Amino acid sequence: MSRFWSPFVHALTPYTPGEQPRHQNFIKLNTNENPFGPSPLALEGIRSATDDGLRRYPDPSSVELRRAISATLGLEGDHVFIGNGSDEVLAHSFNAFFREKGTIHFPDVTYSFYRTYCSLYGLPFCEIPLDEAFRCDPSQYRGRSGGIVIANPNAPTGIAMKLKGIEEILERNTDIVVIVDEAYVDFGAQSAAELVPRYENLVVVQTFSKSRSLAGLRVGFAVAQPHLIDALVRVKDSFNSYPVGSLALAGALGAWSDQDWFDKTRRQVMVSRDRMAGALKELGFRVPLSAVNFLFVSHERVPAEEILMELRSRGVLVRHFKQDRIRNWLRVSVGTPDECEKFLEAIADIVERVPTSNNIG
Ligand SMILES: *Cc1c(COP(=O)(O)O)cnc(C)c1O
Repeated sequence: MSRFWSPFVHALTPYTPGEQPRHQNFIKLNTNENPFGPSPLALEGIRSATDDGLRRYPDPSSVELRRAISATLGLEGDHVFIGNGSDEVLAHSFNAFFREKGTIHFPDVTYSFYRTYCSLYGLPFCEIPLDEAFRCDPSQYRGRSGGIVIANPNAPTGIAMKLKGIEEILERNTDIVVIVDEAYVDFGAQSAAELVPRYENLVVVQTFSKSRSLAGLRVGFAVAQPHLIDALVRVKDSFNSYPVGSLALAGALGAWSDQDWFDKTRRQVMVSRDRMAGALKELGFRVPLSAVNFLFVSHERVPAEEILMELRSRGVLVRHFKQDRIRNWLRVSVGTPDECEKFLEAIADIVERVPTSNNIG
């Protein structure tokens, strides 16, 4: 009955999220969730907000959480915008800064939601190829028009760009907005948030989903100068004035206040990640240096899609992307030490069993 659709809906190419199985007991290393769970202070915050106060609308401008985040960053509260997950913050940013601006630029291998937002808002875009090692070369972004969005560290490659590179892009594009999506920054990259006071065209986007283990709560934020935050608020208040619920605000506040939990759990993830990378290299995998909570891997012999299926049949889910340049790569989230162990056992079994097909010498 698609004749009832608004015409543009036919042309959308929606994002495909990773599988979230409801019933089977899979080892789930396919959506970059944090294996360690949220801070107890986040859960306490949610519990104590679970009362009669829920009859009221939440604070539409998330003042308390904005204050907490901006205090940590050494900025005023008017430099922070809160949204329903960073996906919503990114969508509002595309709407607020990229519409009717020209061509939007991002790497050819990156978070596929950027293409989806371009399709939603009807924006032309240009994909700038990463180099042969999947690195982003900032000199490719000189003097662009329209807009630029960079995930740093990038996904699904896991590779981080130095802050110098981000600065080069900002300096060479002073008339357009540069969005830096830092969904994974807490696992080993340098945040561009410290550049915000110096660049009037910078929007840094972060999330509570990954390093703070609150993917289910849906809280993300942007850090930028107030004149950019104002545009985000205008767009938000033209769409949904209450995107972040009271429970989400309370949970995010609790999580933000628990620096110890944050540091302890992200260090554990980084240690497991590095151990896993070493083991995979020994099994014949290429593994670019990861600054995130996942690894991007490709085997010298066994095709990615075969590994994907074999892992699945052994109860392990990982992510594969049907995009030509990365067809032979898999993205594997870092799980608990036990999950990582089981994953490594399964994958060792797979690559050792599959006969070498091109061993002509
Ligand atoms: C996970 C992710 C996001 C979105 O996270 P939310 O859960 O919507 O906050 C944004 N960008 C990248 C690159 C991600 O991997």
